[in-house]
Amino acid sequence: MFIDIHTHVSTREQWLSYQKKAKPASSVVEGRQVVKIISLAWCYKDSPTEPDVETLLKFAATEPNIYVAGSINMDANIGQQLKRHEELFQQKKIVAIKLYPGYQHFYPYEDKVTAIAELCAKYNKPLIFHSGDFYDIHGTALLEYARSIHIDKLARRCPNTKIVISHFGFPHLLDTAGVVSQHDNVYTDISGTIDDSGLTKKELSALTKQYIADLQRVLRYYPNIKNKIMFGTDFAGEETPLKHVEPYRRVIQSLFNKREQANAFHDLAEKLYFA
Ligand SMILES: [Zn+2]
Repeated sequence: MFIDIHTHVSTREQWLSYQKKAKPASSVVEGRQVVKIISLAWCYKDSPTEPDVETLLKFAATEPNIYVAGSINMDANIGQQLKRHEELFQQKKIVAIKLYPGYQHFYPYEDKVTAIAELCAKYNKPLIFHSGDFYDIHGTALLEYARSIHIDKLARRCPNTKIVISHFGFPHLLDTAGVVSQHDNVYTDISGTIDDSGLTKKELSALTKQYIADLQRVLRYYPNIKNKIMFGTDFAGEETPLKHVEPYRRVIQSLFNKREQANAFHDLAEKLYFA
């Protein structure tokens, strides 16, 4: 079994295609199937493709294995949204909050983030940051805000908040490892880096191998972060470049021994999001 902590599954069709892709390959131990996925809300309302927290909650209510992370629009009334997210934590309807610094042009260490970090700490749930590269259909996102190094100050200021840096901060893998290594309260995931807008099988395999090699290099320098890395895919549907599950599973299996795999596939996620 495994937990995918980073998906954008928001329709029945996407969920079916996810499950199909997550079926264990013959080489994989029987029984290691998805039990839970976390679907992350978008920070804006009224996007035709990406649901905000309320829309996502309606969908997830019908699917027992899909859990929701809320999201705060930093350009709207934050106090009001905090109130709503506090209710959602109390009702156990969300398992985390996600923020999008690169899309919304703010730094994670800005003062306005502190209240959100404190709310997450109060309910002992992670604060997730989109970090690194974008899937930016509007062409407005800025990489500068999305660099994982900017988590450093926030992590120091809010030591009781569990922080997750998405996508290993790609392409700043070493920066991310540095931040995760420095702070007990910072974690990361491997999602979203295997971007496929029409790769051949061979190219996909080469890309996956490259990612494994790069992460091996990072872990050579930072072996102490091995137990702070989680499985995630960023699966967003067949019609997007984020449509893979199996290559990410291969990454975890290639990097880690059996015990470490259990941590990355489910134990750590269980502890951070569901305890
Ligand atoms: Zn994502």
